[in-house]
Amino acid sequence: METVADYFGSNVFDDRTQKAMLSTDVYQSLRRTIDEGAPLEEKVANAVALAMKDWALEKGVTHYTHWFQPLTSVTAEKHDSFIEPSPDGRVIMEFTGKNLVQAEPDASSFPSGGLRETCSARGYSVWDPTSYAFVKEKTLYIPAAFCSYTGEILDQKAPLLRSMEALSTQAKRILKLFGKNVKCVKTSVGPEQEYFLVDEEMFKARPDLVFSGRTLFGAPAPKGQELDDQYFGILPARVKEFMEDLDRELWSVGILSKTEHNEVAPAQHEMAPIYNMTNIAVDGNNMSMEIMQKVARRHGLVCLLHEKPFDGVNGSGKHNNWSMATDEGENLLSPGHDPFHTPQFMLVLTSVIEAVDTYQDLLRVSVASAGNDHRLGANEAPPAVISVYLGDELNRVVEHAMSGEEYEGHHKQSMDLGVTVLPKLKQDTTDRNRTSPFAFTGNKFEFRMVGSTANIADVNTMLNAAVAEVMKRYADELESASDLDAAIKTLVQRQLNAHKRIIFNGNGYTDEWIEEAARRGLSNYKTTPDAIPHLVDEENVKMLTDLKIFTDVELKARCTIKLEEYTKKVLIEAKTMVEMANQDILPAIENYEEELLSLAAKKQSLNRNVGAYETGLLDDLGEKVDEIYTAKCALAAKIEKVSAEVDAKAAAELVRDEILPAMDALRAPVDAAEVVMPKMEWPYPSYGDLLFGVDA
Ligand code: ADP
Ligand code: MG
Repeated sequence: METVADYFGSNVFDDRTQKAMLSTDVYQSLRRTIDEGAPLEEKVANAVALAMKDWALEKGVTHYTHWFQPLTSVTAEKHDSFIEPSPDGRVIMEFTGKNLVQAEPDASSFPSGGLRETCSARGYSVWDPTSYAFVKEKTLYIPAAFCSYTGEILDQKAPLLRSMEALSTQAKRILKLFGKNVKCVKTSVGPEQEYFLVDEEMFKARPDLVFSGRTLFGAPAPKGQELDDQYFGILPARVKEFMEDLDRELWSVGILSKTEHNEVAPAQHEMAPIYNMTNIAVDGNNMSMEIMQKVARRHGLVCLLHEKPFDGVNGSGKHNNWSMATDEGENLLSPGHDPFHTPQFMLVLTSVIEAVDTYQDLLRVSVASAGNDHRLGANEAPPAVISVYLGDELNRVVEHAMSGEEYEGHHKQSMDLGVTVLPKLKQDTTDRNRTSPFAFTGNKFEFRMVGSTANIADVNTMLNAAVAEVMKRYADELESASDLDAAIKTLVQRQLNAHKRIIFNGNGYTDEWIEEAARRGLSNYKTTPDAIPHLVDEENVKMLTDLKIFTDVELKARCTIKLEEYTKKVLIEAKTMVEMANQDILPAIENYEEELLSLAAKKQSLNRNVGAYETGLLDDLGEKVDEIYTAKCALAAKIEKVSAEVDAKAAAELVRDEILPAMDALRAPVDAAEVVMPKMEWPYPSYGDLLFGVDA
């Protein structure tokens, strides 16, 4: 029988395959590029291309594509076949180093936020040798970065790679203080991905799901998640089959899918892979989202990745577990047995705390989207305010470091019990930190504000950059210190005190915390249009341009793109609502009114009493129809108003202030009508059908 070990990574041109198929020289040179960022030599590229082609052809592959991440929410690919004409009138399969390294997709159809005016329509995609190429559906996928003809980056991967490099450079300086000369420091990420599964036929019957990925109408089902019987519940057979199939596909392209379980809401599930180097984890998460959607269809299901597919039940997010480790495998966030007396850990921890405080706006910006606005602060995801949770034990350590007092603390007691601090810390943190946006969980931080559809490249770029910047300042200060131990202690004490406002160990879901956070001066941007403009705040631009992660122009462009995306997404929803009201909902109610009226007329003609049911319902539905019609006209007018607004920021604000309330005003009478209408007369599957349909 074929085992998982047999096919795991079988479709990936991974290290094992590279070693087997490349000459020692070429392999070692490629490894230097991957591990140490050494420039790629042309002859190495040619040799790799040849080996990649041979490997792919054996798998029946006919095409190759540079696979990249433009500034949309999906990845992009343009397939070219390997064929080249040969003099004998037939074809040969060709793939050169040049094909591997660079391609020229037209950039003009991807968002550029005005960059297009300053550069030509041409764009380049450039091979990223640090993320493995893989085969999917007879195509060789080559992970690539994407930039304009003039070099402005138009994608998510290039800044991520730059941020990883910046962090590595600065973290190496920090480690050097402790006498450690490592080759590199890499960040790792384990993204936990939430999603919903609904029946495909029901999905197709709902224009809102088809066009916007979420329900825009729908009265609550009698049962929701109140019984807490979903989380880790038994998987319905169809879902179980889907997950088995999904794992197989993910494993074959080398994605380390590890955990699958039911989530809190009905029909909601989660897939968590084992963590990997950030760049690979980001590519893996993008590929996972795509594969999930494809595999679901094979099982007559649709995978909804939207942050809020259903009102009134939990939405979906993505927990971004993040840590830093050296090439020798030392995790810089590992507290060890006695964190208080481990200056390196204290310094690294302080740098993360300071980074999150100083650049909280950038982290908030990196998770802002129309979909995620429905979650953050809605008592299901962390609030829109960023804070750091340390857990009881580490918090005591940090408090002592702030006051300068000696700390003997719990570790002794724990050691007496034969238990190390690390498992103890884990135990402490696991159940009480669910409401925190940025929680320390044993040997990593878990950033929980990310939306389920997001490309996690963005949040990791900001996180790496922020930490790199702070480490840079620390290294500048400490490299010249004569008494290093004393200097570290002073720095840690000073910086923790300066940034202690970001530490919060209480319940992040309460109103009291939001008030307290305001007193502490923490930002609270409730919506995307509130958050995004802070991307170009002076100190943020300075940090990101100093570290050479973005240029000024690129940041302004990104700001515009994000605002425009918000506006476009909500406008699609608004237009869908108007169409649904016009084409299905109003006619359905009117039809039913007509049936009631003709029933009443028949009753009257037979001298029978027209009862309270008929008259009451007719009055009720008549009222609803008026309300729906009025609200629909109002929404349509707002759509026109926003569509005429050319300024991206002004348009996004109009959406927030006028379109969203008008959408709510239309939804309310429609949902009220749904519950009084006969099920067979209502044009759409209900919340009950959608949320519990797959179980059946
Ligand atoms: P949870 O309690 O949230 O389920 P787990 O320990 O199961 O936490 O881990 C969740 C995710 O964190 C997984 O994807 C896991 O691989 C990842 N993870 C574990 N250790 C690290 C680390 N050092 N760096 C980054 N991610 C990690
Ligand atoms: Mg988690």
